Amino acid sequence: MNKTIHEEARETAVIADVDVLVCGGGTSGLFAALAARRSGAETLLIEQEGFLGGTATSYLVNPLPEIMGKGGLLQEFLDRMSAAGGYIKEDPSNIEFDFSMANSFDVECFKYVALEMLSKAGVSILLHTLFVRPIVENDVIRGVIIENKSGRQAVLAKRVIDCTGDGDVAAASGAPYKKGREKDGLMPSVSLLFHLHNEGALKDLPTIEVGGIYLIGPLMTEIAKKEGIDYTPPYDVGFLVPIPVTPGKLLVNLAHVKNVDGTRAEDLSRAHITLREQIMEALQVLRRHPYFESAYVAATGTHIYIRETRRIVGEYMLTEDDAVKGKQFDDAITSCRYMIDVHPIDDMEVGRYDNHEPFDIPYRCLVPLKIENLLVAGRCISSDRIAQSALRISGTCMSTGEAAGTAAALSIEKDESPRRLEGKDVREILEKRGVNIRPERHLVPAKCMF
Ligand SMILES: Cc1cc2nc3c(=O)[nH]c(=O)nc-3n(C[C@H](O)[C@H](O)[C@H](O)COP(=O)(O)OP(=O)(O)OC[C@H]3O[C@@H](n4cnc5c(N)ncnc54)[C@H](O)[C@@H]3O)c2cc1C
Repeated sequence: MNKTIHEEARETAVIADVDVLVCGGGTSGLFAALAARRSGAETLLIEQEGFLGGTATSYLVNPLPEIMGKGGLLQEFLDRMSAAGGYIKEDPSNIEFDFSMANSFDVECFKYVALEMLSKAGVSILLHTLFVRPIVENDVIRGVIIENKSGRQAVLAKRVIDCTGDGDVAAASGAPYKKGREKDGLMPSVSLLFHLHNEGALKDLPTIEVGGIYLIGPLMTEIAKKEGIDYTPPYDVGFLVPIPVTPGKLLVNLAHVKNVDGTRAEDLSRAHITLREQIMEALQVLRRHPYFESAYVAATGTHIYIRETRRIVGEYMLTEDDAVKGKQFDDAITSCRYMIDVHPIDDMEVGRYDNHEPFDIPYRCLVPLKIENLLVAGRCISSDRIAQSALRISGTCMSTGEAAGTAAALSIEKDESPRRLEGKDVREILEKRGVNIRPERHLVPAKCMF
């Protein structure tokens, strides 16, 4: 439909004027807000859900590779989770596979600890609050318009950090971005994760263990064949991850849909319907196996799991070459060891690359072109699709958040635009606070990654 209507102009109440505004309280956003506040900046975080954590909570993602040995706020968070009973701390040197139940956690505890740490630090939090549009004057972001139960309101800020995953704030502000494959704009498949509750002992799991996780696709094909059912698993390398801290709970990554644009409501709605059908169908098949006969779906993600949408073009764009060669940069704010895992759109694309040396993420990837006083963190930072397929892993996103929050506060203190900051200065502060930019021990990702 090509119809439009004209919306009337109106006066909008300004409800806050802060140093740093973080939009999106997901994996990167909660660390951005915490870092900005701990650096002395008055910080407000807005989040559309009623809790924090993003993919780690509302999408149910588990485990979280790339979280061990990084120090800083990430370690503090893990320590707190462990003390609250939601994470079993392991000695990294005993962990063979980073992508394994060793890095699994209790989702409800994550939600609790995230809110607790931010509240204690003095971050102001507005939940159930949607970023609607940016307030931009002459290419400088001054704040954002939000909507929630109180209506439409404005928040002004000296610095804004876009942690929406999709780069909603940066894109709406006019920062340049890339989306999808160059030739046709297509993006990798999307998923809906679910928790399966099952009483069976872990040692009796009838699935094949590969590199710390358990393949479920082959088991389901086998059940279907034996039972004479016409069933093909939607994801050939579907897997499950036991979550030892919550015995009986298994995270299942099996429901998959292709050709979805995660920034289009129609696509997301269509995908949700299909993914839920896939989950229920999978449960019916699984229950035919004695081990799973009383299994049930304990929870599903409230959001679809989006691998890739907008990639904001910043002062530096990380490339496939940088990732494959393990490039290092003077202004590195973290590094990524996770494997390049493209999730091919078609047979023309290479999926999983061989293990690479860890590659650095320079500060400049967090600084969008064109718009001043804006930073980005998380999976939408400046990179090509191939580098993004590695750096989108949660632990790396968390580290980009910690760096962005630190940089936002530093730029206010120095009264300089984030673009003019020396990345090396940001790095130095992070290191002084115990962040390991390049953790000494390489927790080499599992040989088989999914
Ligand atoms: C299928 C799949 C499997 C994956 N598997 C793993 C895995 O096993 N382990 C792993 O570590 N990583 C995994 N990842 C990657 C990882 O989970 C994400 O890429 C990463 O956590 C993204 O972090 P983020 O901070 O950019 O976004 P998110 O964590 O998604 O945070 C974005 C936040 O912003 C909020 N938000 C968005 N828009 C608005 C708005 N307009 N207004 C207000 N709030 C808003 C959202 O509610 C959310 O809380 C996987 C990704 C996919 C898609």
